[in-house]
Amino acid sequence: MILCSNPHAQYLAHKAEIDEAVAAVLDSGWYVLGQQVKDFENEFAQYIGVQHGVGVGNGTDALQIALKACGVGAGDEVITVSHTAVATVAAHEPGGAPPVLVDIEPEFFTLDVRQLEAAITPKTKAIIPVHIYGHAADMSAILDIARRHDIKVIEDCAQATGAMYENKRVGAWGDMACFSFYPTKNLGAIGDGGMIVTNDKNLADKARSLREYGWNEQRNSCVPGVNSRLDEIQAAILRVKLRYLDQDNAARARLAAQYEHALRDTGLTLPAKRDNASHVYHLYVVRLDQRDELKDFLKTQDILSGIHYPVPVHLQSAYKGRIKIQGNLTETEKAAKEILSLPMYPELKDEELKKVVEGIHKFKGAL
Ligand SMILES: *Cc1c(COP(=O)(O)O)cnc(C)c1O
Repeated sequence: MILCSNPHAQYLAHKAEIDEAVAAVLDSGWYVLGQQVKDFENEFAQYIGVQHGVGVGNGTDALQIALKACGVGAGDEVITVSHTAVATVAAHEPGGAPPVLVDIEPEFFTLDVRQLEAAITPKTKAIIPVHIYGHAADMSAILDIARRHDIKVIEDCAQATGAMYENKRVGAWGDMACFSFYPTKNLGAIGDGGMIVTNDKNLADKARSLREYGWNEQRNSCVPGVNSRLDEIQAAILRVKLRYLDQDNAARARLAAQYEHALRDTGLTLPAKRDNASHVYHLYVVRLDQRDELKDFLKTQDILSGIHYPVPVHLQSAYKGRIKIQGNLTETEKAAKEILSLPMYPELKDEELKKVVEGIHKFKGAL
């Protein structure tokens, strides 16, 4: 069976170092928010190219806390996309700010900047661009509009750790940026984890306080906060894996190039990349009309593919009819019917990729 993503293979690739790092934490006697977390926060912030890192429980919490740190509350509006993990939208629930959803550019699946300005109202407090599949949203244009309207930008980098936009990594562009270390992500923990990064000391301090009950240094709750801490074991594992992230992202890019070469004559629409950005292929997403048929056929060949995501957020029962959308979300709804994520992870073997390609050619031949 060829899996779509494979966190276990990644553990095995670095098993000795990970086991050693975990054992050291177990022996240290300190298990939550300790030296490992501090070191990881610094190393990660440095990797992204920003001043501050604040480790939290997961990527959804990172977004929730970042929104709160930016002062977004009840009655405020935040603009994001419907073509994303539901987490991007679920993060707004505790604050009560209903996100306004805009359409995507079909080529890159990221926020369509042409829709952005029309969605802005006097209540708009923040924009959350999602760097979906490992490739940046159009940050220059988004920041330009945000600055003109004095709106905060919080990047959702959950799928794009390490991706470049122009001369800086994603996460170094917005006022704040949020990362997820869910096991399947490009930088994945062996459990849950998340990080907020920012160059703004004031926002970093707020986030640090909010992740622990809104405490000040005397452990006095000054603002209503939550409990969302990164634990030492995950931080120690992530420190090991961070050292291999560039290598792993390069392996993904190499596999993507193989797919591109082998699939260019199949009629499938292959992933596109902006000229001024890199792609770290968290997912390798192709488009075709007979998506469901291809998915089923690949399964008969012992190949698992995925759909990220089958139902746009605004059409899911929790949000349908109660979430504001800008204009129509035609491209979002069209993409959801046509996208298919092919197996993609750094340890995927060349012969496995070849089997996936052969499966697609066989399917195309049989049409
Ligand atoms: C995974 C993901 C999140 C949330 O991360 P969790 O750690 O699972 O809470 C948020 N946004 C996007 C785009 C994601 O892919």
